[in-house]
Amino acid sequence: MRALERAGATAVEVRTPEDLAGVDALVVPGGESTTVIRLLTRFGLIEPIRRRVREGMPFWGTCMGMIVAARDVAEMDQPTLGLLDVTVRRNAFGRQVESAEVPLTIPALGAEPFPAVFIRAPWIERTGTDVQTLAEHGGHGVMVRQRNVLGTSFHPELTGDGRVHGYFLQMIEEAA
Ligand code: GLN
Repeated sequence: MRALERAGATAVEVRTPEDLAGVDALVVPGGESTTVIRLLTRFGLIEPIRRRVREGMPFWGTCMGMIVAARDVAEMDQPTLGLLDVTVRRNAFGRQVESAEVPLTIPALGAEPFPAVFIRAPWIERTGTDVQTLAEHGGHGVMVRQRNVLGTSFHPELTGDGRVHGYFLQMIEEAA
């Protein structure tokens, strides 16, 4: 939330369908996907989020958030939000890159590499025809966009570099 505020947004927590009705965009951050999917179900947020995103609300999932947004998750049988036509694999970079910071080339953000922090991060194994890959690491997609839905394997909020947050704020402006 602090990183979003630094980028110029007003950030509020969304925990209920009523909270969701009051926002222009939604970010699902890092965490533990199996737990958060259970909580999204318990708080009645699955359908309201799907509806808003179908209507064009910008959505950004970082790390766990991208897992929750994916249409398919390798070797996980919980239902997801299905907002992003990709297959992701959880904890895919394993131990080597656990908590690693990698200089990542993201052409959409300019020539300067982005300091991408990977924490038990997922990678992308399949992208639908409608999905644009914005960055790759180790031969796998780690930043993708499908219209109003953005997904990153890494945690841009943990660095001082606000360019991914700026990119998402631009998606919000485009949608408005
Ligand atoms: N490994 C977590 C999961 O699979 C995601 C980790 C993260 O969000 N940093 O849910």
